[in-house]
Amino acid sequence: MKSYQFKTNSPEETMAFAERLASVLTAGDVITLEGDLGAGKTTFTKGLAKGLHITRTVNSPTFTIVKEYNGDFPLYHIDAYRLEGSDEDIGFEEYFAGDGITVVEWAKFIMEFLPEEHLDIQLVTISEKERNIILNPNSNRYENKCRELLS
Ligand code: ADP
Ligand code: MG
Repeated sequence: MKSYQFKTNSPEETMAFAERLASVLTAGDVITLEGDLGAGKTTFTKGLAKGLHITRTVNSPTFTIVKEYNGDFPLYHIDAYRLEGSDEDIGFEEYFAGDGITVVEWAKFIMEFLPEEHLDIQLVTISEKERNIILNPNSNRYENKCRELLS
């Protein structure tokens, strides 16, 4: 399937892009965010939250693994960083199958629990302020959303 790219030059631009993405998301959508430490995964999630009209501050949930926020849809923010090398299932299916939108940072550490259909987003650091955002939809459902956003 085609991949889609968007380049940003500041954290604000990354947030604004994620905010636009939020407008095409619907209940049950799952987004995985990959990228090195500092690439912008949490910044991206903040933008998504803004787009879903969540007013609470979104922070990295590193120490809690899952945080839940209420907006137009519930937002489940998972940070799997601390699950590296573990096969612990903390009840992921309930989030993925729920009425909310799930965002997963470090999704590669919980690969075995991810639903087959999800929108994979890679954040690549180009320079201090530049990021390449690469969207890889793996089903028509997400491909349509990418196309709506980027063409
Ligand atoms: P991660 O969750 O991937 O570890 P964070 O979102 O916590 O990353 O941190 C990203 C850092 O990079 C922040 O300090 C942010 O201000 C900075 N930054 C600089 N340029 C950008 C950009 N274009 N997009 C996102 N973040 C950026
Ligand atoms: Mg983070």
